[in-house]
Amino acid sequence: MPPSLDGLTPAMRQYVEQKRRVGDAILLFRMGDFYETFYGDAELCARVLGITLTARNKDKDPIPLAGIPFHALDGYLKKLVDAGYKVAISEQLEDPKLAKSVVKRDVVRIVTPGTLTDDALMDAGRDNVLAAICSDKGGIGIAFVELARGYFEVVDSREEEALDELVRVRPAELLLPEDCDERLRRIARQLQALCGTATANRSAFDFGSREAESTLHEHFGVVTLSGFGFDEMSRGLRAGGAVIAYLTETQQTSVSHIVAVSRRVPDDHVLIDHSTWIALEIERTVRSGDRAGTLLSAVDRTVYPVGRRRIRHWLRHPLIDGDELSARHDAVSFLLQDRPARDAFRTTLKSMPDLERIAARVALRRAGPRDLGGLQRSLDELPAARSKLVETRVPCLVSLANQLEGLEDLAGALRDSMMEDPPAHTRDGGYIADGFDEELDRLRGLKKDANAWLSAYQLREVERTGLANIKVGFNRVFGYYLELPHSAKDQVPPDFVRRQTLKNAERYITDELKQYETEVLSAEEKALKREQDIFEQLLDRAGAHVTALIRVADALAKLDVLGGFAELAEERRYVRPVFTEECSLEITEGRHPVLDQSLGDGFVPNDTLMNGSSDRVFVITGPNMAGKSTYIRQVALLSIMAQVGCFVPARRMTMSLVDRVFARIGASDEIMRGQSTFMVEMTEAANILHHATSRSLVVLDEIGRGTSTFDGLALAWAITEHLAAGIKCRCLIATHYHEMTELSELLSGVRNLNVAVREYPGAQDREEGIVFLHKIVPGAADKSYGIHVARLAGLPKQVVSRSREVLAELEGHLEREVQRPTMTRKKDRDDGQFMLFQNSHEELLRELKDADPNHMTPLEALTRLADWKKRFDV
Ligand code: ADP
Ligand code: MG
Repeated sequence: MPPSLDGLTPAMRQYVEQKRRVGDAILLFRMGDFYETFYGDAELCARVLGITLTARNKDKDPIPLAGIPFHALDGYLKKLVDAGYKVAISEQLEDPKLAKSVVKRDVVRIVTPGTLTDDALMDAGRDNVLAAICSDKGGIGIAFVELARGYFEVVDSREEEALDELVRVRPAELLLPEDCDERLRRIARQLQALCGTATANRSAFDFGSREAESTLHEHFGVVTLSGFGFDEMSRGLRAGGAVIAYLTETQQTSVSHIVAVSRRVPDDHVLIDHSTWIALEIERTVRSGDRAGTLLSAVDRTVYPVGRRRIRHWLRHPLIDGDELSARHDAVSFLLQDRPARDAFRTTLKSMPDLERIAARVALRRAGPRDLGGLQRSLDELPAARSKLVETRVPCLVSLANQLEGLEDLAGALRDSMMEDPPAHTRDGGYIADGFDEELDRLRGLKKDANAWLSAYQLREVERTGLANIKVGFNRVFGYYLELPHSAKDQVPPDFVRRQTLKNAERYITDELKQYETEVLSAEEKALKREQDIFEQLLDRAGAHVTALIRVADALAKLDVLGGFAELAEERRYVRPVFTEECSLEITEGRHPVLDQSLGDGFVPNDTLMNGSSDRVFVITGPNMAGKSTYIRQVALLSIMAQVGCFVPARRMTMSLVDRVFARIGASDEIMRGQSTFMVEMTEAANILHHATSRSLVVLDEIGRGTSTFDGLALAWAITEHLAAGIKCRCLIATHYHEMTELSELLSGVRNLNVAVREYPGAQDREEGIVFLHKIVPGAADKSYGIHVARLAGLPKQVVSRSREVLAELEGHLEREVQRPTMTRKKDRDDGQFMLFQNSHEELLRELKDADPNHMTPLEALTRLADWKKRFDV
C-alpha cells in the first residue's frame, strides 16, 4: 500500500481509502468488467487463485494488479473464503457512462468464512456457522449464528465444556476479543486444528456488557431482552452482541431475519461431549474423517437440503423430554405405515429448493430472480402439503401443517409476476412474466418488433436505392448498420454515412436507422430498469414475510427428517423404542446401525438386558476382534437414535431416558490436543466422573491402555468401581484386563459378558480351529486368542510360531511364580472402595498380619514360613 494518496489517480485514491477501511479483508474493486486487486492483495490473489499478476502504470511507479472477470466472481470468492480469507466487495454504484467524474463505488459487503449466504459458496448439507467466545469468572460465553437461516443462539458454558460445544457445531469462523487471555486463544487453536475454523480478532469493546447490550437492543428493537428469557447480560449474550456487531459491519445491511435469540440450556437435551462424539463416529469416522461409515450416513434418508442439515442438528441434540419424543415417534410410526402419504411428502420435498437459504437471502436483499422463482414453487406446494398433514391427525404432523400457513398472498403475487425458470441474476432481464406490467410489455414489444421493422426497412431501402444487395444488421459495438459490398462503392447513396469498414464490405448508417436504434436501445435499457424496479418491489414484499418463510422451512425440514426415519425403518426393519420410567435398557437382537447396513445378513444381532439393579454394569472380555467394541458402541448408538426420534435396528428395545452419553476409547490418538495420551485418558475419565449421573450411559472401550499395565488396570478398576457403586449409572466396559471380571463378585450390579468363540477340538492346531461368533454371552472370557488374530492378520509364520513358544514359557513362568496381582477388599474401609495390591511384599505383609500364631501348630508355622520364603523369594 502506498504511504500517501499523493500522485494517485482519483480511482486509485478511492481504492486506497476503501482498503484502509476494510482492514484485513481482501478488497475486490469493481472496474468495468473486472474486480481488480492491487498491491499486496494482488500478490496474494495471484498466489492463492493462480491468476496473472501484472501492473498498472507499467512504466512509472508500477502498482501490482491482478483482476478477475466479474462473471467469474463466485468461483474465485469460494476459493478465497475456503482458504480462510475475508473478502470485501466494492461495487460501482452508478453507471460509468453517466458518471461525471470518477465512478462512485463503495463496499457493499464483506464475505467471511462464517457469514456465507450464496448457494455457490456453500455446501448444501452443512451449516455455515459463525461463533464468538468471551470469558468471565464463571466460564466461557459462546454465541452461534447461522446467517443463512437466521439462527442465533447463546450458551453460558463452563470452561471445560466450551470446546465440546464448539466442536459439535464446527463453526467456520470464530470471533475473539483481541485482548483475550490464553484460555480463549487455546480454544481457538484447538478448534482450528480440529475443525479448520478461521479466527478473527475483534475489538474488546464489542464484547463489553454495555456495548453488547445496546447492540442487541438495537438489533431486536427492544429495551430489554427479558422477552427472550434473559434476565441479565450473561457472558453468552456478550458474545452474542459481538456477533451481531460483526454481522452488521460485514453485511452492510440489517440482518433482520435474525428475529430471536435463544439460550441453549445445557440440560434440555442429551449431552454428548466432544470425545464421545468422536468415539461413536456420529458424523465422521475416527480413522479417515469421512462421512461414509458414520451414524449420520447410516440414518440419513432426507431428500431436502434443509432436512439434510436438520438431521445433523437432531443427532447433536437428542431429546430428554419424553412427550416430545413420543410425538416424534408417533409421526414416524404414521409415516411408516402410510406409505402413499410418505411418498407424496417426499416427492414434494425432493423438488423443492432450499427455502431456508432463500429466506435469508431475501432478508439480506441478496436474492436473485431464481430465488424468487424457487420461493414461488415452494409456496405453491404448501396448500396441498398442508391439507395432507392435517388429514394425518397425528398431533406432531398437524402442528407442522399450522406452520405452513400465512403465505397465500405472497404466493399469489409471485405466481402472477414471475416467469418460469428465471435466471440467477437480474442483470440481463427476462424474469418478470409477460402480461404483468403494461409498461414493461410495451417496452418489450418495441424490441420484439425490431426484426419485423428491420426487414421492412431493408426492403424499403433496396427499393429506394435500387441496390439489391443491401443488408441490415446489428453489432454490439457499432449498433445497427446497412451493409454493402465494396463492389457497390460507387453507387452508395449520399445519405448513407460510413460507420465501419470490413474486408469485403462497408457498413453505413442513415438518420432514420439511427433514430430507430436510439429508440430500440433505450427501450431495452428501460425495460431492464423496469424489470428491476418490479423485482425490488417483490423483494420488499417477500422481505416482510421472512419470519413466516423460516417457519415454513423449519416445518419442511422436520417433515423431511421424520419421513426419512420412516423410510429407513421400512428399509432396514427398525422398530419403535419404548420408554419406561424405571431404569432399564433392554435390547433384543440389536444391530449396529452401520455394520447392519454394510454386512447385511452377516451381522450377528445381540441382546442387551440391563436393569437398574442386578444388571447395570457390564464388563465385557473376550479375544481381540471378537466384537466387543462393536457391541458397546451399538448400545450407545441405539440409545441416541431412540432419543432423537428415530426407530432402532432391533427386534425390541425398552429404555429409560438417558441424560448424558459418554463414550471413551482408550489410548486414542489425540496428539492434536497437545497432551500425552495418558493425560488425555485421565482428563476424560475425570470429566466422566464429574458429570455422569445415575441416568447417564457410559461406554468405556479399553480404558487404561495409555499407560503401563498396572497403572492402567488400577485406573480402569477404580473408575468402574466409582461408576458402579458411586454414580450407579448404566455402563458397558470392554476391557483386555481379565482381572476386571473379579469386580462382579465384589460389587452388586456388575455382570460379566464375553464373546462366544467356537473351538473345533479336532483341529490339530489349537488356534486354527476357532471361529468368532460375535455373539455376546454371559460370563468372563478365559483366553485371549491374540496369536490367532495375529496369524489371521498375516504375520509371518515363523513369528507366529515363535510367539507361541514365548507364550508357553510365560504361562509356565506365571504358574510357578505367584506374583500375579490380586484384587482384595481393603479391610479397614467398608465404603465400597477396593484396593489393588500390586506388590508381592504387600501381600506378604497382609498374610503375615492374618496369620494367628496362637492357633498354629509349630509344624504349620514352619511350613508357612518355608512357603513364604519360596513364594516371595525372600
Ligand atoms: P473387539 O473390540 O472385540 O476387538 P470389534 O468390535 O472391533 O472387536 O470387531 C471386530 C470386527 O468384527 C468388526 O470390524 C466387525 O467387522 C466384526 N464384527 C463385530 N461384531 C460383529 C457382529 N455382531 N456381527 C458380525 N460381525 C461383527
Ligand atoms: Mg475393540
